[in-house]
Amino acid sequence: MGQNRNSTDDGSRTVTFLGRGLGLRTATKLTLLVCPLCSQRNGDRMADKGVCEWCAYEPAERDEEPCGTAG
Ligand SMILES: [Zn+2]
Repeated sequence: MGQNRNSTDDGSRTVTFLGRGLGLRTATKLTLLVCPLCSQRNGDRMADKGVCEWCAYEPAERDEEPCGTAG
């Protein structure tokens, strides 16, 4: 209990996109919290779709990197 700081109870984990932006990845979907392209904080509704509400950018899954590792 409490050993996995980057994991939550629903299995989601934070990710970045080539070191930029911020998202929340679960087994089934991506929530885009901060856009890696325009660096804007996303709105809740569009974040849930995994698309930036400001520039309509949709990060590619292959660009995801785990967040919280060294560096
Ligand atoms: Zn954007």
